Amino acid sequence: MKKNKAKLIIFTGPSGVGKGTILADFFTKVDNNIIYSISNTTRKPRDGEINGMHYFFVSKEEFEKMIKEDCFLEYACYSDNYYGTNKKFVEEKIKEGKSVLLEIELQGALQVMEKCPDAVTIFITPPNFVELEKRLRGRDSEDEKTILKRLEAAKVELTNASKFHYTIVNDKVDKAVEELIGIYNKETSL
Ligand code: 5GP
Repeated sequence: MKKNKAKLIIFTGPSGVGKGTILADFFTKVDNNIIYSISNTTRKPRDGEINGMHYFFVSKEEFEKMIKEDCFLEYACYSDNYYGTNKKFVEEKIKEGKSVLLEIELQGALQVMEKCPDAVTIFITPPNFVELEKRLRGRDSEDEKTILKRLEAAKVELTNASKFHYTIVNDKVDKAVEELIGIYNKETSL
């Protein structure tokens, strides 16, 4: 069996940039030494989203109880909902020698960078802001108020891209996936 280094990989970028599409393809193309961390959220599931696969969907009360019980490696309130990474899951997988990928927004990413300075950090940007807005509106999954909140958050997120080790511009999905595979292989090879 090929040996590799277990790394915590932070994958961040504004809503609508195409993180989900890139990751769906990435995970079909890489070995099983990297695991996707399924977050907890208080957001309602979108059509087609499955509890325990896309997220663990929980109530605000459940989430706040988990905060008190110190269950999160990081958590953030984003666009009126909580999102958080399960600490125990991440620690167990890393101990087993697996890399773990966190697909999280900026506030959470900054928390993990503080706590885990060895984490590999990757920021996904759109080719430009107009394209980001087009993609966010095109997926037709949010109401206008939510879209505007996400675009506001995107402006802040984009100004923080330079804090990350790697930046990938998602102008073509195939190219972005290839870049991500390259980073993963480089960072985890012994
Ligand atoms: P969405 O509602 O579109 O699924 O996710 C909104 C944002 O929350 C995205 O930028 C996504 O990467 C981020 N996110 C998902 N899970 C987590 C998490 O566990 N922690 C943090 N901080 N952000 C998350």
